[in-house]
Amino acid sequence: MPTYDYRCPDCGKKFDKFVPIAQRDDVACPECGAKPVTRLMTGGGIMRSGGGASNSGFGNSSGCGSGGFS
Ligand SMILES: [Zn+2]
Repeated sequence: MPTYDYRCPDCGKKFDKFVPIAQRDDVACPECGAKPVTRLMTGGGIMRSGGGASNSGFGNSSGCGSGGFS
């Protein structure tokens, strides 16, 4: 179940919440109860797993054409 970031268009409250994908657009503001709230686009840990900072065994990274993402 992914975490989504939201911002309330009514009071400006920012929060994140575990929400099933089917209900990701059906979230109310925990602060004022406004609904719907704006869902923010974030990388959210899905794309960041398995970072290449510590490779074991492969030592020939000359940086030729790879490693552009940060
Ligand atoms: Zn609100």
